[in-house]
Amino acid sequence: MDAPVEFDAIDDHDDLIAWSRAYCKHARRKWLVDVRLDLVEWTVSTRARRRAAAVRHPQIDDATVGDALDWDAVPDADGRPLPCTLSLTWDAFREFSQAEWASTLRHELIHVEQYQHCATTGHGAAFRWRAETLDTEVHCQTFADARWTFECRTCGTVVARRYRDCPFVREYDRYRSDCCGAQLRCVERSE
Ligand SMILES: [Zn+2]
Ligand SMILES: [Zn+2]
Repeated sequence: MDAPVEFDAIDDHDDLIAWSRAYCKHARRKWLVDVRLDLVEWTVSTRARRRAAAVRHPQIDDATVGDALDWDAVPDADGRPLPCTLSLTWDAFREFSQAEWASTLRHELIHVEQYQHCATTGHGAAFRWRAETLDTEVHCQTFADARWTFECRTCGTVVARRYRDCPFVREYDRYRSDCCGAQLRCVERSE
């Protein structure tokens, strides 16, 4: 792929969008994804989110995944899909490897493909089939993939997640869970 910046050198939102857009162009060619990337807008979210990325699109009445939509019938659409927005979560990018991030983008590309053809998108059978072809996950990548998960020792509730080493990770035994006032158990994800 022809990226304007190396993945490991990304250090601001513009870089992340530039890399991600270039990757999506590459993926579109490689897996023959039928999307119009000129109708995709990009944004980076720095708010805490559970999802690594998301596609936001206008709500179109009576749209069903699998039913091709005639965009000519949609006001303001000029016969083309109304733009959708691919929102990238900065903290997820910082946590993910290049392979994980690329897989996340392929997942989102499937949402864009469905949306541009059917005006809606979901994780049903059509998505599963497409995800297999594009070698990506059916479920949106979430921060459940954090490197460390801290659980209440008494009831097992997840109390905290951490993606990078930080004081909390080293000193978690000083904290108690809100639910039971119990010690925490640290579970580390193995790569
Ligand atoms: Zn999804
Ligand atoms: Zn508890």
